[in-house]
Amino acid sequence: MLRIVTFPHPALRYKSQPLRRIDDEFRLTVRRMFELMYEAKGIGLAANQVALPLRFFILNLTADPEQPEQEQVFINPEILKRESVVEEEEGCLSLPALYGKVRRSKKIRVRAFDLHGRQVEADVDGLLSRAIQHENDHLDGTLITDRFDAPVRAATSAKLREIEVAFRKSQTEGIFDDDTAIQARLAALAQHGGILPDVLSEADRQPSTPTPQNA
Ligand code: ZN
Repeated sequence: MLRIVTFPHPALRYKSQPLRRIDDEFRLTVRRMFELMYEAKGIGLAANQVALPLRFFILNLTADPEQPEQEQVFINPEILKRESVVEEEEGCLSLPALYGKVRRSKKIRVRAFDLHGRQVEADVDGLLSRAIQHENDHLDGTLITDRFDAPVRAATSAKLREIEVAFRKSQTEGIFDDDTAIQARLAALAQHGGILPDVLSEADRQPSTPTPQNA
């Protein structure tokens, strides 16, 4: 079953491998990831955050499922150029209710493949630039907490510990495998370079109908 994983799930520390296959399993996975992202009210989600050690992420800066034309998929992304620095507060779906200021490049040039396998290159700024850098960090196993300065890290350490305890508890309850089993699974997926059919459960294959907002 595809679901968003929280710290310290080993996938969040995995240096992901290039995606090698854009097939139906992959397209279904992307669709399911958008649903999970909207349910969690996020604007971006990286493959690592659903325990897939592959280099891709999705974005919709509106966080609005009614605006699917704003959806973007970045496959095997590369940041080619960075320009000037800006600091803003960030959160992360894998670190629930934890926020802190992160310094990022203001402008970047990014190159990636889209869902149709076309290569796209763009100069971006503002929230899009920040979101791409945040998600790209995930693909390298880097979290916002790694980029916090010492005072922010100190101010958020109790919250981080709380998130960690909750994840460890879910492992003892059998909701997640132990770290060794997760690592083995990640290595197998990374080597495959695509989505293995058993990644998606029956429920993932039958997308839920979106609930209308304000209903
Ligand atoms: Zn994140």
